[in-house]
Amino acid sequence: MHIDINNIRYPYSSIPDTCPLCHHGIDPRLIGTNAIEREGHRGNILQFIFRCPRQDCQHAFIATYWQGHDFRGTLEKNFSLRNTSPYRGKEPVIPEEVKKLSANFVEIYSQAHTAEHYGLNQIAGVGYRKSLEFLVKDYCISKNPDKEQEIKAKFLGACINEFVDDTNVKECAKRAAWLGNDESHYVRKWEDKEIKDLKILLELTMAWIRNHVLTAQYLADMDTAT
Ligand SMILES: [Zn+2]
Repeated sequence: MHIDINNIRYPYSSIPDTCPLCHHGIDPRLIGTNAIEREGHRGNILQFIFRCPRQDCQHAFIATYWQGHDFRGTLEKNFSLRNTSPYRGKEPVIPEEVKKLSANFVEIYSQAHTAEHYGLNQIAGVGYRKSLEFLVKDYCISKNPDKEQEIKAKFLGACINEFVDDTNVKECAKRAAWLGNDESHYVRKWEDKEIKDLKILLELTMAWIRNHVLTAQYLADMDTAT
């Protein structure tokens, strides 16, 4: 594929097939172009302004293309898609019961998710760790409303040990907390693997909390049926 801007031909790789704002698969409409000429070997930049064709969205976004270098360090002819912006964090999948339990968790978890999209892995890792703290503490507070101040003041690990009695929630939360241990904040760097593991443990913790909340609800509702 190629496009001509001011009589210069720019070959490019492909157009985005999902909208960075509504996250649906789309065939975006081109509404504008911009070429940025740069000196030397840095390569030029090509930008397309697209419009999402979905009736529910209709937002514009910019797709930025860079000229890469081949293995000899020579500038490639083709422009490849580098990123699309602005990006709206994809609403992460969070069970309703968990959303009701902790609005703070939803907010922090979503922000960590967006940071991860931008490749800000240090921030994403710390964000996921922080979201775990709110999820576990709000869960503990819902079970022990009279101990709210005590729970808020405690370290996450101590909180999990003392106030989480459901074995599955406890074991998952404990392992998630290990990955983001308070003591290793300075020395340890967040790597992709750690983020991946932490996310899986967070998902498991959410699922167990949901099970726990639902089970407790049904047991309470149907207590007198027999
Ligand atoms: Zn859209």
